Amino acid sequence: MTVYLVGAGPGDPGLVTVRGAELLSRADVVVYDRLSARSLLDLAPTHALRIDVGKRAGDSHTQDDINSRLVELGRTHQCVVRLKGGDPFVFARGGEEAAALGAAGVAYEVVPGITSAIGALAYAGIPVTSRYSSASFTVVTGHEDLTKEDPQVDWRAVARLGGTIVILMGVARWETIRAELLSGGLAPETPAAAVRWGTRPDQFTVRGTLADLDVSQLGPPATIVIGDVARLDLDWFQRRPLSGLSVVVTRARDQAGQLVGPLRELGATVVEYPVIEVVDPADGGAALDSAVERLSTFDWVVLTSVNGADRFLDAVADGRRLGGVRLAAVGPGTADAIGRRFLRVDLVPPKFVADSLLEVMPEPPAGGGTVLLARAAVARDVLPDGLAARGWQVEVVDAYRTVAAVPSPGLRHAVAEADVVTFTSASTVDRFVASVGIDRMPDHVVSIGPVTSAAAQALGVTVSVEATDHTIDGLIDAMVRNGDRLRT
Ligand code: SAH
Repeated sequence: MTVYLVGAGPGDPGLVTVRGAELLSRADVVVYDRLSARSLLDLAPTHALRIDVGKRAGDSHTQDDINSRLVELGRTHQCVVRLKGGDPFVFARGGEEAAALGAAGVAYEVVPGITSAIGALAYAGIPVTSRYSSASFTVVTGHEDLTKEDPQVDWRAVARLGGTIVILMGVARWETIRAELLSGGLAPETPAAAVRWGTRPDQFTVRGTLADLDVSQLGPPATIVIGDVARLDLDWFQRRPLSGLSVVVTRARDQAGQLVGPLRELGATVVEYPVIEVVDPADGGAALDSAVERLSTFDWVVLTSVNGADRFLDAVADGRRLGGVRLAAVGPGTADAIGRRFLRVDLVPPKFVADSLLEVMPEPPAGGGTVLLARAAVARDVLPDGLAARGWQVEVVDAYRTVAAVPSPGLRHAVAEADVVTFTSASTVDRFVASVGIDRMPDHVVSIGPVTSAAAQALGVTVSVEATDHTIDGLIDAMVRNGDRLRT
């Protein structure tokens, strides 16, 4: 039974240490507050207790409360992770928590983290030291009330020290701090910068000099840096192709990963809004099972989506049952899903839409041929009608059904604030607009292809960007190419 005081880093969840991530993955309880990266909580097992002890004005969580809570949890649980923003021992009261645990005889360990004093600046392109101009960096709290008797921070002495000065919690008292540093003899033209929400997608930096740095538009949390290095702008973070864009992904949760990962990697803030959930068809899969029983009587099986392919192949269970049946996939995503089961697809149309499949589908053999079409419960009739018109006998079975997922109010708000919404199918367009409301749409709509775009236009929604290649990769590529337009 141990309490681990774990540094979460400044915000980017990738900046937690390997040790911290490992402890989170086996935590029974995670105790966190406002500055901890929320998505790190997802690393904890689903059954883990998540306790928010964020200290807000007027809130009852005092440090004493938190200390006794940790002691109590440490006595009753195997692995308690106390997650703290940045480093747990840098202006974070980790020391007080460790002391309280020690005094109560509860075992504790400390996992250092990347402090925002260094990390937030690194993401803003400011190295804290320089061989030429900054031989030291001093990290100072700006929280102290300088009008109280006997303040601890001697700002005039800090001014005389030279090197780089990093101020945490200093936004509210910046005017006083600036005046003190100037009286301490620091030159008014000394470069200065402030970074808010450093390392997060919404990172924002203002630059200036000691005399004119304006932090009035920045709320906490922000880190202020003063010194020659603050002149540097080795920016990489805000120059990524999708930096600064907040993008809504509307795919079902189990399919969103393929889009979410690359978008984040390119710098976007991703809001996952799974408007649909994939569930069993209304008959529980009876029609699908029955068709699979008669599998050898079909010439072709046509699969139009990853879900359809997965559900169909789950029902087949043993690949040998497919025997001489040929497989067609409408797009490469579906073909990949089939390929993952060690099956080769016989036909993928050049354009990844149903109409294109109709063009390349061979004639039925003399005497007639049969096609099994396993797909979503409600889908367009283009394929079955088109195949029938070409002489195929078509059996359509429902492989799955999509139902509306219910989003939280917080999520709805994040969507309304977003810059871009991405659509990968016509059905998600309908559901998204119904759920969010036409007047709360993000500024830009990005669509995977013409069918999806048409569904949007039918609802009066303007499509800003349509992918040329109608795949997830094509969608991402189209966004990167149109990054500047999406930012306006
Ligand atoms: N233990 C933390 C600091 C806690 S004090 C650490 O090591 O980083 C809280 C202050 O840290 C904030 O007022 C702000 O000055 C700074 N801070 C925390 N997260 C930040 C971020 N993402 N960007 C900029 N400054 C941040």
